[in-house]
Amino acid sequence: MTEATTLSSAVDEPAVTQKRWLRTAIPGPKSLARQARRDSAVPNGIGTVLPVFVGRMSGGIVVDVDGNQLVDLASGIAVTSVGGAHPAVVSRVHEQVDRFSHTCFLVTEYDGFVEVADTLNRLTPGDHAKKTMLFTTGAEAVENAVKIARSATKRQAVITFGHAYHGRTLLTMTMTAKNAPYKDGFGPFAPEVYRAPLAYPYRWGTTPEQCAHEALAALDDLVVKQIGAHNVAAIVIEPISGEGGFIVPPPGYLAGVQAIANAHGIVFVADEVQTGIGRTGAMFASEHAGIVPDLVVTAKALGGGLPLSAVTGRAELMDAVHPGGLGGTYSGNPVACAAALGVFEAIEQDHLLDRAREIGELITRRLHALAAECPWIGEVRGVGAMQAVEFVVPGTTEPSPEATAAVAAFCHHAGVLALTCGTYGNVVRMLPPLVISDELLEDALGVFADACRSLS
Ligand SMILES: *Cc1c(COP(=O)(O)O)cnc(C)c1O
Repeated sequence: MTEATTLSSAVDEPAVTQKRWLRTAIPGPKSLARQARRDSAVPNGIGTVLPVFVGRMSGGIVVDVDGNQLVDLASGIAVTSVGGAHPAVVSRVHEQVDRFSHTCFLVTEYDGFVEVADTLNRLTPGDHAKKTMLFTTGAEAVENAVKIARSATKRQAVITFGHAYHGRTLLTMTMTAKNAPYKDGFGPFAPEVYRAPLAYPYRWGTTPEQCAHEALAALDDLVVKQIGAHNVAAIVIEPISGEGGFIVPPPGYLAGVQAIANAHGIVFVADEVQTGIGRTGAMFASEHAGIVPDLVVTAKALGGGLPLSAVTGRAELMDAVHPGGLGGTYSGNPVACAAALGVFEAIEQDHLLDRAREIGELITRRLHALAAECPWIGEVRGVGAMQAVEFVVPGTTEPSPEATAAVAAFCHHAGVLALTCGTYGNVVRMLPPLVISDELLEDALGVFADACRSLS
């Protein structure tokens, strides 16, 4: 039997127990044996956080090819929020793929596309008339939000923020703040992209109120004085920065950004690719800040692991683009749409918004207690099941990427799949699937606490 056959028959295997369980060192011998082939077939440009090959996912567990059971605090970067194989997603995908896998919506239509659009129109903030266009990746959706904003306003400039991450295509890597590894050597970059400082309370050196006030003044200066408001098509912001370090802006800041956009006829775009679809305990992180974006960009958790992204927004903006101006061969692929409908069903049936809030409370409680005894922890922050720890040199606010890497490595070797992020590489982020059990989460947080205590 080939390896592929073994894996595809995984559904016939007994259920995975929701327990961390190591049979070998991490990575194990079977993963290591595959690594040489991977290295010769795949370019060095794609790094891997934890070089283990996965055989199966279930609930909060990732099973590798050596039979090790790792606790998932990554969800494939906030994608498998309902778990890596939720029955509602799996059954709808099976049913769809048995009927047909692709028509191209530009050629002939199918129900799933329209159903996903309707659902996003209903769930995104605001009760104005909305329309949704589906795409394939997050970056592609961000690019299209900019295209729509430019087409609707007949303006060109795009404003983004410090610590932003919007993708790896030419326009979105230009919009992304951090040079290495995302931009280094890949220029020249797209024109007419400007950057305002992001309100980052921990590093601003003032009260949160003052931070919001000063950051908004800087944005206003950029819009009005430096670019000219009549030239600005869009302001694009992540309600909570993802790759930039799970930076939660101070109260009033996002509403202030929206007010500046509204005052000048600028399209206000929320990039909810990482924060959206239930991650923060609300369907969209914008809801926590009480903002109603003109356009909302979603991807990651939307397709439950299948590639799907969307731009949802004011009907008059979405309709400003001429017929034929939006599209893509795989836009809103029917199998990905079926998966998305399964994701919406899973969130509702399993009460995963409530669950995201509970997960947030559990993590926050444990991490705040840990911060009191670990001097390397500068700040614990996040909303719902999107939580992070920023590591600094004790007694200072100087970032410590070394401590961060040591904590991540400790977790990996103990079978906990934790990710890092942050402009300074000094943040460990926790993005567990929302179906993880309390026991498994407590176990993973225990390992994380041991990792922090091991710092000298
Ligand atoms: C991941 C991400 C993107 C890019 O999505 P891709 O599917 O990788 O292109 C854009 N914006 C944010 C906030 C993200 O987290």
